[in-house]
Amino acid sequence: MSELEDRYRIVRERIVAAAQKYERDLSTITLLAVSKTWPTKPINEFVRMGQQHFAENYLQEAMQKIYKLKSSNLIWHFIGALQSNKTNIIAKHFDWVQTLASFKHAQRLNDQRPEHLPPLKVCIQINVANETRKAGVTFAQLNELAFQIAELPRLQLRGLMAIPQKMDTFKQQRKQFASVRHAADSLNQSKLNIDTLSMGMSHDLEAAIAEGATLVRVGTALFGTRAK
Ligand SMILES: *Cc1c(COP(=O)(O)O)cnc(C)c1O
Repeated sequence: MSELEDRYRIVRERIVAAAQKYERDLSTITLLAVSKTWPTKPINEFVRMGQQHFAENYLQEAMQKIYKLKSSNLIWHFIGALQSNKTNIIAKHFDWVQTLASFKHAQRLNDQRPEHLPPLKVCIQINVANETRKAGVTFAQLNELAFQIAELPRLQLRGLMAIPQKMDTFKQQRKQFASVRHAADSLNQSKLNIDTLSMGMSHDLEAAIAEGATLVRVGTALFGTRAK
């Protein structure tokens, strides 16, 4: 078995084990392979193993891969920093954007989404602990932005995304993910129909699954340690 096959199996087993332990329906948890900095070769290997969802942070790098891998019909998620001068390309070439945190960017993506494509699936990024270095809206800002985005016909608001602070203990990790889940529950109670919680990475996917993650974004545990 190749190293990548080994890692893929291990990550899948971690997801299966966490789903069992926390009584989650496995079919509601999607593995998102974070391929930033990696070339198309390992991506293709994961595709052969059955992987379909990939995520990229850097637009230029992403576009080369999306172009090269066009025939594989992959599902591409943008998880990098959004800037106004990038929304046009993102709206045309990605299936999901998970880092939405302003109405201005939402409007641009909405206006730029081509008619022949389905509405762009989006998640609002939450800045869980109000960290100044991190992108995302605060819990206090979430409601207003969510209702504004829900009005845009060429976007489909699917849920929330969070990159919480790195915590060592499971209990601490779980607490942060729980706060994201509560925010999603409260949006659903106010009649916004969201079904996606994008949370959990290589080191904390179990805690995220315990708190309802439906998309786990895994880079290092699949591809190996990044050079940058
Ligand atoms: C890089 C990245 C990941 C993957 O992190 P790993 O720790 O390598 O699994 C997940 N989400 C976002 C937003 C990232 O930028």
